[in-house]
Amino acid sequence: MGAESVIVVGAGAGGLAAAIALAVAGFDVTVVEAAESPGGKIRSLPVAGRAIDAGPTVFTMRWVFEELLATAGTSLDRELTLRPLDILARHAWSEHERLDLFADLDRSTAAVGDFAGAAEARRFRDFAARAAHIYATLEEPFLRGPRCRTPLELILRIGLRRIGDAVAISPFATLWGALGDHFHDPRLRQLFGRYATYCGASPFLAPATLMLIAHVEQQGVWVIDGGMRALAAALVRVAERQGVRFRWSTPVRQVVVAGGRAAGVELAGGERLAADVVVLNADVAAVADGSLGPALRGATPTIRPAARSLSAVTWAVVAEADGFPLHHHTVFFSADYRAEFDQLLRERRLPTDPTVYICAQDRGPDRGPTRGRIEADGEPRRDRGGPERLLCLVNAPADGDTAPPDADALAACWRAATDRLARCGLTLHGQPEDGVVTTPGDFHRLFPGTGGALYGRASHGWTASFRRPGSRTRIPGLYLAGGSTHPGPGVPMAALSGRLAAAAATADRDSTSRSRRAATSGGMSTR
Ligand SMILES: Cc1cc2nc3c(=O)[nH]c(=O)nc-3n(C[C@H](O)[C@H](O)[C@H](O)COP(=O)(O)OP(=O)(O)OC[C@H]3O[C@@H](n4cnc5c(N)ncnc54)[C@H](O)[C@@H]3O)c2cc1C
Repeated sequence: MGAESVIVVGAGAGGLAAAIALAVAGFDVTVVEAAESPGGKIRSLPVAGRAIDAGPTVFTMRWVFEELLATAGTSLDRELTLRPLDILARHAWSEHERLDLFADLDRSTAAVGDFAGAAEARRFRDFAARAAHIYATLEEPFLRGPRCRTPLELILRIGLRRIGDAVAISPFATLWGALGDHFHDPRLRQLFGRYATYCGASPFLAPATLMLIAHVEQQGVWVIDGGMRALAAALVRVAERQGVRFRWSTPVRQVVVAGGRAAGVELAGGERLAADVVVLNADVAAVADGSLGPALRGATPTIRPAARSLSAVTWAVVAEADGFPLHHHTVFFSADYRAEFDQLLRERRLPTDPTVYICAQDRGPDRGPTRGRIEADGEPRRDRGGPERLLCLVNAPADGDTAPPDADALAACWRAATDRLARCGLTLHGQPEDGVVTTPGDFHRLFPGTGGALYGRASHGWTASFRRPGSRTRIPGLYLAGGSTHPGPGVPMAALSGRLAAAAATADRDSTSRSRRAATSGGMSTR
């Protein structure tokens, strides 16, 4: 009998990881992708003849990809050049208030001390230890494991003997509340509260467990030569070496279900591709609302618009940056974080004073003879000047399907963003119309069913983590992978979900073939 066939719908991080893991497990894999190139949200845009990463830019948890690539007989270092950042990110509140966080915890502690005083530096140390503890408690049972349906299931996985650890992750506290236990300086509370937005959530509603993101960054942030798109390209190369076939510019209209099982897909052009297994890397919102065929409607829980995670407005520009020493990752904080999230989530509008993230893609660790070499003092070199590649991002409500911001709202948002930058001393000599703007409406078109939500269901409330769907669906043979599923959003997390989907499909194949063998030999299954 030939290998069982799989169709993976979507070549995002989750789809690519699933494809590699399934091919390694002996499946015959075809990936069908609507876009003309891989990566999904890992996308780059051409601006002034240069490619700008316009999706994820912060690369963490490299072990996820190390483990995946090791199963395929290779490694990240063989496929890509990764450079660790000494300065994880630069943060600014005004011209005189700046704080860098470092890969070296002692340097970060000293920087916090200089910024906010010795007592706050001690509290930062305690916070870092708490974040590390939450991470250590959850990595094995939650991040690496299949979805937990209930908090009790999670506690049982953590182990009754470690009940103290389960309590210490503060499952019922909000991130904002828990940060208040640590930081007296509101700027530090804001800085670490911002990690909620890595999941598209508000720090005022997200659970305290998201502190673990601080630890994830402390474990390392890397810049990939060639940008994040080089990661997607490397995953395709590795997958192809494992025999995976790719079809680009091939949207899937619906998943075909026959005899109660997933049986393949129907392409937008009408062609049908049969398969024993289908892995969906599309957002689960598209499954729930029937955009992937009526047979799937209800196969995952619906996500009400109010329960969506945040969207974003991004500006990919080539501009000259003056007056502020941008680092590879720089965050410019709004004056009133609560007002910003009230505007985003209650008033559902673009903020009038947004927090602005800029990825200065020509700056970072030593990359040879380019602008932005880090000098011994950790400052990017400023001797070359000239236009550079920037991705500017502000959070936005995920109403791209119902109330996308119009041109006036976008222009006002750019003005508000550049005002915020100016208050911190930064002037950008470039206009948004010289670059490429991506709006919640654009994200909705790119990722159907979402309204532009970039991270699936919002991680709001203590039950949120248990409400993301897992790998298996109620339709046998249909599996889910991607940032809208367990364990959550982010490039490495989506890749983990791809590995989990592959593991579930492999386990189901193996148990079916065991029971078939038992039936044909007349013996009894031992499991
Ligand atoms: C602006 C932005 C900034 C971000 N910043 C970071 C960051 O710094 N660090 C980080 O780790 N994460 C970040 N993220 C989140 C991260 O990019 C995502 O969580 C992750 O890439 C999602 O991967 P995925 O597997 O869900 O697939 P997606 O990237 O969602 O891709 C899904 C793929 O499926 C395809 N598809 C969907 N429907 C169909 C269909 N019917 N037929 C065929 N193909 C289909 C789509 O075209 C797409 O290519 C960011 C995201 C955005 C947008």
